[in-house]
Amino acid sequence: VSDDSSDEAVRSTCDDATVCKRFAVSKGYWKDPYIQHFIRQPSERKAPEISRGYYARVKGVNLLLDAFIKKTSCNCQVINVGAGLDTTFWRLKDENLLPKKYFEVDFPMITARKIHLIKTKPPLSKPILETHSSNNLKIDGYDMDSDHYSIIGQDLRDLPVFVEKLKKYGLDVKLPTLLMAECVLVYITLEQSVELVKWASSSFNTCMFINYEQKDRFLLNGWDQADALDMMDVYNSLPQADVQRIELLEFLDEKELLQQLLQHYCICWATKGGSPLGKRGLII
Ligand code: SAM
Repeated sequence: VSDDSSDEAVRSTCDDATVCKRFAVSKGYWKDPYIQHFIRQPSERKAPEISRGYYARVKGVNLLLDAFIKKTSCNCQVINVGAGLDTTFWRLKDENLLPKKYFEVDFPMITARKIHLIKTKPPLSKPILETHSSNNLKIDGYDMDSDHYSIIGQDLRDLPVFVEKLKKYGLDVKLPTLLMAECVLVYITLEQSVELVKWASSSFNTCMFINYEQKDRFLLNGWDQADALDMMDVYNSLPQADVQRIELLEFLDEKELLQQLLQHYCICWATKGGSPLGKRGLII
């Protein structure tokens, strides 16, 4: 386990994301009954722009993720890289959208915390056990493995070891595969992210990559098709009844600030094989 201080700063971004999501959930931007179990201290206040930005991010990523899972009738696998304390597994289970396997990877220090919370909080462990064939979860150091959910404690930058661990926990290269990276690739070098993206496109016949990031950081290698929408476009294309509902939750003084913030980020997605989830057909 690396104790490098720059890695520690990167790991702390995981708590930032969870605190912001937790605050937005507490304000009613979207529902997530699980996130409260992952954050120690009560939520500190966040500016409405931040909550609206997270709203667009979470809804936008979920739209793409759910479309992929529905299109494959759950006969697929999902690899969430740099997942942090993300609660997507529990949402997918509650919505009957669990893929054959949902993998997460993050630094061992983060996964150890996540696994500890799962072990000690029944609202988190129960749904995993309900989808698992034995009464015990397989926990091995910084990793957890169950029938539908694996958590892998591994530095992404060591791709061969990461891939080896995915295989150990049942990665099936024949299954349609979705990789997702929500604010993660920005923390590794361009070469390292290219290595990951190349590995994915060369390993699976049918796959998709969802990347939430600043526009200029994404590079695609070996993919058939790639699209991007900036977050202002995403925000404007979300179901408008819900957007109107959240816009009433908190007063926003400066609309331009939100616009600037959202235009700075985008969701990119790339596909290979199969019929793509067409850009305009999916979100707009
Ligand atoms: N995807 C989560 C979300 O959106 O809530 C967490 C986002 S957080 C901004 C970035 C995450 O990427 C952190 O949990 C961090 O530990 C993880 N990460 C960054 N570099 C990594 C690496 N080299 N190996 C594994 N995880 C990494």
